[in-house]
Amino acid sequence: MLEDLTILGSTGSIGRQALDVCRRLGVFPRFLSCHRQVALLAEQIKTFRPQAVVVTDPEAAEKLPDLLSPLDRKHTAIYQGEGEIRNMVREKVDRILVAMSGFAALSPCYEAIMAGQDLALANKEAVVVAGDLLLPLAREHGVRIYPVDSEHSAIWQCLAAAPQGACYKLYLTASGGPFRTWTREQMTRVSPQEALAHPVWSMGAKISIDSATMMNKGLEILEAMQLFQMREEQIQVLIHPEGIVHSLVEFQDGAILAQLGMPDMRLPIQLALTWPDRVDTELPRFNFFAESQERNLHFYQPDIERFPALALARRAAREGREAPLVFNAANEVAVSAFLAGEINFTGITDLVALALDHFLAQARLTDFSVDGMIDHDQLVKAYCRDQVATLGSLA
Ligand code: NDP
Ligand code: MG
Repeated sequence: MLEDLTILGSTGSIGRQALDVCRRLGVFPRFLSCHRQVALLAEQIKTFRPQAVVVTDPEAAEKLPDLLSPLDRKHTAIYQGEGEIRNMVREKVDRILVAMSGFAALSPCYEAIMAGQDLALANKEAVVVAGDLLLPLAREHGVRIYPVDSEHSAIWQCLAAAPQGACYKLYLTASGGPFRTWTREQMTRVSPQEALAHPVWSMGAKISIDSATMMNKGLEILEAMQLFQMREEQIQVLIHPEGIVHSLVEFQDGAILAQLGMPDMRLPIQLALTWPDRVDTELPRFNFFAESQERNLHFYQPDIERFPALALARRAAREGREAPLVFNAANEVAVSAFLAGEINFTGITDLVALALDHFLAQARLTDFSVDGMIDHDQLVKAYCRDQVATLGSLA
């Protein structure tokens, strides 16, 4: 049973749900980190008494000591800045839950793997941009990666039922988000509030917007290619509005296995923390006969015309090399710009398409080290921020 745990991003949507799982399991994480939300981190320190915490934003970190009781201050060491995250992931624990958002998780993931630490991986951006580097390293260092993303958790559970190499095809399910039935024209007028209101899952802001554009499913195609060593054409997206079937695997003999359950991230989080054990849970269970639950499960083909994010992700997948990095970096800038009211909703995929056209026509990236990728990420983001002004004025 899990004893020592580190949670990177404990104040986020996944981080908070992970702490709820810890409370239910009686696990007290040894290390926590957050970026800015120090008031919430102070409450977490009071409840879980970690040995140390890291706050990556130095200004926010200055405020933390005043929010703690003398006893909490004595028990929990406080560190600040990104460099301290890299030190923290070298401290030996049973598992590190990577629940930080975005590209910022790349460097901590790399350091954790180099230190031989097993990962429960919620963050998808690091594997999408740098899977070619991280996964061979993980194999080399004997590091196990337990997927938390619900679709990848489902696939991993289904794959456990067959010998390696027996997998023929993956079906990634997608709820379709709040605009599943909207026209592209209607989507040009979507507000951030409308886009943040996901019909099935309750999640952080970035991934909620990614779900609405279906960029999230695009990222998940790239994530699945890396985690399960599949080719892009072996991965099919299925729109499944009820969010009960979390994904499916078709094997060479035509058999299809699926994993079902309530749409509650605490279930894949718990499994990634307790694997190979399956532990009893008091969380709601799916009941085929309950009036309140969808008993009819539906599956549709995605509409690429209305959701160009899927075609863009497939283009990045086929191009390979730094194309997924460009795809991800442009999307991170586009989501921030949309949330800030600088571009409209359909401008998100327009910006990503523009960045792919621009960067894939140029001399290609040659330095695929972590530092090389950090530099390239910044270059793509600077280009995209310049383009935001143009796209914004066209909105
Ligand atoms: P949130 O935005 O809710 O939380 C992000 C966490 O990361 C917070 O603790 C935040 O700190 C911290 N953080 C943000 N920026 C930085 C940074 N630059 N350096 C260090 N820490 C930082 O995100 P989610 O919990 O929704 O998602 C986390 C990851 O999990 C994402 O990669 C997402 O794609 C993935 N995921 C999420 C799912 C979900 O249901 N939410 C489902 C599947 C995958 P602070 O709060 O202090 O700012
Ligand atoms: Mg997912």
